[in-house]
Amino acid sequence: MIKFLDLQKINLLHQQEIEARLLKVFRSGWYLLGDEVKQFEANLVQYIGCKNAIGVANGLDALRLILKAYMELGIMQEGDEVIVPANTYIASILAITDNRLVPVLVEPDIDTYNIDISKIEAAITAKTRAIMIVHLYGRVVFSEELKALAQKHGLKIIEDNAQAIGAEWNGIKTGNLGHASGFSFYPGKNLGALGDGGAVTTNDDALAKTVRALANYGSEEKYVNRYRGLNSRLDEIQAAVLDVKLQYLDAENEKRRDVVNYYLENITHPEIVLPWLPDNEREHVWHLFVIRTKDRDGLQQYLKENGIQTLIHYPIPPYKQEAYPELNNLSFPITEKIHEEVLSLPVSPVMNKEELQKIIETINSYK
Ligand SMILES: *Cc1c(COP(=O)(O)O)cnc(C)c1O
Repeated sequence: MIKFLDLQKINLLHQQEIEARLLKVFRSGWYLLGDEVKQFEANLVQYIGCKNAIGVANGLDALRLILKAYMELGIMQEGDEVIVPANTYIASILAITDNRLVPVLVEPDIDTYNIDISKIEAAITAKTRAIMIVHLYGRVVFSEELKALAQKHGLKIIEDNAQAIGAEWNGIKTGNLGHASGFSFYPGKNLGALGDGGAVTTNDDALAKTVRALANYGSEEKYVNRYRGLNSRLDEIQAAVLDVKLQYLDAENEKRRDVVNYYLENITHPEIVLPWLPDNEREHVWHLFVIRTKDRDGLQQYLKENGIQTLIHYPIPPYKQEAYPELNNLSFPITEKIHEEVLSLPVSPVMNKEELQKIIETINSYK
């Protein structure tokens, strides 16, 4: 069987280095808020090119903490609106509603699957405080037009960068395009830990200080609590693993590009819509390779019968989830078409030619 993602194989690429670092943490007797996290944060700052990075427990918390910090700083308050793509993963929406802010959903572009920037202005009201952009599937969404729009209306641009670490727009890395950015190091992400992990990056020192305090019980000094915070820290073990893997991220994203180019050159099935290659290859790190077809479920079943595992990102849009009854009556035709037709093929830095050839031949001979 060709797995959708072979995490064992991905992590074994760095076995010796990771095991040595894990042993070091184990023997150090220091497991939280220590040197490993400090070192990883410093290396992430350097990699992204931003001023501050704060390790947190996961990607959802990274986004929650950014919004919570803006509320503590008086930049947002309960009931304010945050614009967000309708087809995002539910975590983006949860981060908004957890802070008693209101998500305002905007349709994506059918070609890029990212928020349609031309539809944002119509969604802005007197209560809008931020635009949360999501670099979905690993593709950058950004433009001068978006920047100007945010500036004109005094809005923060928050990046959900869970899927696009390493991507760049005009030489600037995702995570350094907006005012603040949330990262996820969930094991299956392009930079994956051996468990949960996340980070916030920002050039805003006041925001960084507030996020850091909020992630540690709202405390800047032990047993002194300025805010009603959370416990959301990146632990030393995960930071050590991430610090090793960060060195290889660019090379691994490059391998993903090779896989994608091979797919794009060789998948020829007329009923399959392939993802669109950006003009600048650095604008996509291919967290997911998502194709579209009217007979999605049939194709997925056929691939499974032929030993190829695929996934759907995502089967149900967030506003159709039981968790959001107040949003269930909304309708976004482009979003719904995407959820009905998308299928993610295996893509990773450890796939070999034989696997790719088998996937391509199997797909091209469907029906
Ligand atoms: C993975 C993901 C998250 C959440 O990250 P976790 O680390 O799983 O909490 C948020 N947004 C998007 C778009 C994601 O893909």
